[in-house]
Amino acid sequence: MGTPMPAPDQIDFSALPIYLPEVECTSRERIRAIQLAKLIEQVGYTYARVPWYRDQMDALGVTPADIRTLDDVRKLPFTDKSALRETFPFGMFAVPMDEIVEMHASSGTTGKPIVVGYTAADMDVWSECIARLAQMAGVTAADRVQMAFGYGMFTGGFGLHYGIQRIGGMMIPAGAGNTERHIQMIEDYGTTTLIATPSYAMHICEVGEKLGFDWASSTLERGLFGGEPCPPRLKAEIEARMHITCTDNYGLTEVMGPGVSGECLAHRDQQHIAEDHFLWEVVDPATGEPVAEGEMGELVLTPLDKRGIPVLRYRTHDLTRVTTEPCACGRTLARMQKVRSRCDDMLIIRGTNVFPSQVEDVIGRIDELTPHYRIVVDNEGGLDRMTVEVEIKPEAFSDSFEEMSAFAREVAGKLRNVLLVTPVVRLVEPGGIERTLGKAKHVDDRRR
Ligand SMILES: [Zn+2]
Repeated sequence: MGTPMPAPDQIDFSALPIYLPEVECTSRERIRAIQLAKLIEQVGYTYARVPWYRDQMDALGVTPADIRTLDDVRKLPFTDKSALRETFPFGMFAVPMDEIVEMHASSGTTGKPIVVGYTAADMDVWSECIARLAQMAGVTAADRVQMAFGYGMFTGGFGLHYGIQRIGGMMIPAGAGNTERHIQMIEDYGTTTLIATPSYAMHICEVGEKLGFDWASSTLERGLFGGEPCPPRLKAEIEARMHITCTDNYGLTEVMGPGVSGECLAHRDQQHIAEDHFLWEVVDPATGEPVAEGEMGELVLTPLDKRGIPVLRYRTHDLTRVTTEPCACGRTLARMQKVRSRCDDMLIIRGTNVFPSQVEDVIGRIDELTPHYRIVVDNEGGLDRMTVEVEIKPEAFSDSFEEMSAFAREVAGKLRNVLLVTPVVRLVEPGGIERTLGKAKHVDDRRR
């Protein structure tokens, strides 16, 4: 029956399944050795089969023989969406079309969609990656897994479907839409696991509550989320109201689809990367140069055994930081912080890269503040000035000017420690920062 999520230190991780322990729990040295062997092969494969890459590498004067260490990946060209658009639909494919067993495409909000093709071996890797993340969340062969993603060109539906079957779970392919029917199916079929976007899961929750459905006594135990970022507050609310445990995963169509990384139950803000299939780099988005481990930067991914449509150094434009510290769940695969912002959000203030998500993290740790904030950047006398407006909770508000000024200085100090830029902190009364629907507009850059 549905139970609320226990705290990570109360979970017995030895009782939870790990899909591929010989890889997921191996030494860092062995992971790097696997990556290097695959990288060398993959670069040779790509160079030999994809003219677009051969031209790019020839122009840079680099050949597959130049790849001898993992760091040599930096000699290779970056790839972004435009390469896949220019070669629409099949120009980047590395195998004859009769070896492709499935294709998917991104919706393409502007221009042509991104088309990707999978060989049977690619489908196998994809299912394995999904099986891993499902087991990180506790899914086993005993589970009944209801799909609320649409089955279609989008990679979410089928990608997860095959991976759940890989571990013997029973798929209930309900598909998108018809919320009341979803709730009825959970009740009729004893669904234990729901696959959905977090916002749709919230909708199912609310509709169920209105219908008088008792989530606390339902068979539902967990949600596997994807398709959109899952803000921690939304997840916590769904977990509390539906009495389930929710995890999410990261992926993108261009490099595979869902399953590049997945959340275990030990670090709820991080996801283990399937490093034996994906070489990750974190780079400064402005220069393309690597940042130190643990620093925030743009995630760049090289799939290491993708056959249908190999991609080298794909620039995700997603910002994260990666750690290779061991995890309490037993896995040794590197963990990436969940993506909360894109490179387009980055501000350069007096030569330092600043991300709104860093401000959000600091503010989130200060009890006296609400999560609402706004960053204003302007330029005075040739110098960038950053003002962070934060909203004080009613119970923390004081009439004493001295107390409030001291508190503002304290907040500025905490921000400076993380941002390495000293902001001006302006305290705003409770409710004083405008709430916007959808994507909150946190930044007002007046320098442009
Ligand atoms: Zn873990």
